[in-house]
Amino acid sequence: MFSIIRGSVDVVARRRTHPLLICQQHLARKEELMSEVLHIVCPHCDAVNRIPTARLSDGPNCGKCHHPLFTGRPVDLTTPAFQKQIEHTDIPLLVDFWASWCGPCQIMAPAFAAAARKLEPQIRLAKVNTEEEQQLAAQFSIRSIPTLMLFRNGREVARQAGALGEADIIRWVQAHL
Ligand SMILES: [Zn+2]
Repeated sequence: MFSIIRGSVDVVARRRTHPLLICQQHLARKEELMSEVLHIVCPHCDAVNRIPTARLSDGPNCGKCHHPLFTGRPVDLTTPAFQKQIEHTDIPLLVDFWASWCGPCQIMAPAFAAAARKLEPQIRLAKVNTEEEQQLAAQFSIRSIPTLMLFRNGREVARQAGALGEADIIRWVQAHL
């Protein structure tokens, strides 16, 4: 009688501890993998590339289309390309919402391009034309342009309306990471 009770207690104890142990090992392995490999979406063909963190600054090429994953220039994003970047890129994404008729947007464009040369490959810089991608602008309630939005892990972490110079763009990004 006693041994049966003890036996049942042991089974419960095993059931309680085993999944927990497996879970902890799994999480530790996942963290290890995440620190070693980054998912980077190709700006040319939208393929998701797995790049070792240590190789990020070595000018990696896309495994599918073989073009450079970073060009030092902001990427023009359509709505589908934006969705792919936001869902699959492990590095922060800085987006300039702009329009061709907007004077301050024209003024900021060279500063944004210069910032891309300095911030890549740690951050992906992109531009969304609000005239062509109106649904995307509406989705994020873009009320004035230019608007900078910084995304991390698919979520908005900061936004800034109004044109900034190159140094201020870089400072603003670094302040929010
Ligand atoms: Zn590609």
